[in-house]
Amino acid sequence: MQGIRHVFGNLAAVSDVSLDVHAGEVVCLLGPSGCGKTTLLRIAAGLEAVQQGAVAIHGRTVAVSGEGSLPPEKRNVGLAFQDSALFPHLKVLENVTFGIKSQPAAQRRKRAMDLLEQLGMAPYAMAYPHTLSGGQQQRVALARALAPEPQVMLLDEPFSSLDARLRDRIRDDTLHVLKRAGAGTLLVTHDPEEAMFMADRIALMRDGWIVQFGTPRELYCYPRDPFVVTFFGDVNEVYGRVQGSVVQTPLGAVDAGDLPEGTRAQVLIRPEALHVTELNESPTTHQYSHVIMAKLLGRSSLLHICAHGQDGQEAHLHARVPGVFLPVEGQPVTIRLDPSQVFVFPVVPRTRMAHGDTQEDHREYAYSDDGQ
Ligand code: ATP
Repeated sequence: MQGIRHVFGNLAAVSDVSLDVHAGEVVCLLGPSGCGKTTLLRIAAGLEAVQQGAVAIHGRTVAVSGEGSLPPEKRNVGLAFQDSALFPHLKVLENVTFGIKSQPAAQRRKRAMDLLEQLGMAPYAMAYPHTLSGGQQQRVALARALAPEPQVMLLDEPFSSLDARLRDRIRDDTLHVLKRAGAGTLLVTHDPEEAMFMADRIALMRDGWIVQFGTPRELYCYPRDPFVVTFFGDVNEVYGRVQGSVVQTPLGAVDAGDLPEGTRAQVLIRPEALHVTELNESPTTHQYSHVIMAKLLGRSSLLHICAHGQDGQEAHLHARVPGVFLPVEGQPVTIRLDPSQVFVFPVVPRTRMAHGDTQEDHREYAYSDDGQ
């Protein structure tokens, strides 16, 4: 997709987006509700006319603004949208074989049964869609989309009607089916964990723009801006000013990277960056941090900590520790920071925000170093 821009009335739903999906690759369009993911997918499918830009599949241009556009059924794309209804008068197996026109009946049936098997739906081959749950129908819709062996799969929130446990299994099955099929897949989701699980690359969108496009590791470990960091989960935020190439925080000095001296900086610290150790003897100074409360979340424990910086700064921070680690309220602790999970950005004044208002600028002075 090259230079795609799409407006609805006065609203720019997609603004100058370019992205490519390679054969055998899963690319996730990730972002908050209303950021333009589905619109982009519908343009790729041919369900929405291209207003500006172009779409090509396998080197062949299928839509250009101002010129003709190939209809969806001629694009060799498999579609599974949130609302893709199954044919109610056809059994599950017939729904899946419907799109495979070119092969003999026995081969079509075998292909469909193989896919239903891989997605755990073989026992329902002779059932009618209305007797299936929403999640089962989604799986049949997925098998139907894959059956004609399309070059491109376009999936919009394909796991949204599944409960958490089933979703994990079906995601896993689907990933293997997609990889075996070798199709290029564009998958829409608003769930960062799902994107990390499914994607070879993620395009993180906001307000119609791609904020960052890269591997899950690139987005998680080398986020381009604060939105990318915060989209992947809870983070601690503190603010300060760059002095001597560092920013002072209640957890100590943090490397300011190449930010110029004097820059107001936002420091984002992932909860897993806090390595917490209990102090056994009573602290001799009041400067030690202490535990406010600790909760077991299952695989990890979440600690609420009152952190005291050397210069008197104090902050309420969250630490995520693997396993069961539940210190009592008031327990003195020392904290070591893992710098790879700490990110420093300049605080951008509101007037210089590229794409509108943000949450961050309201909290700009939450832990200000100079009381502004
Ligand atoms: P969600 O995760 O909630 O599905 P999304 O990221 O897929 O959201 P889109 O469905 O692409 O977002 O919508 C982008 C914007 O365009 C939204 O503000 C939406 O209200 C608007 N929009 C989408 N389709 C239309 C339409 N047919 N007419 C008018 N506005 C639309």
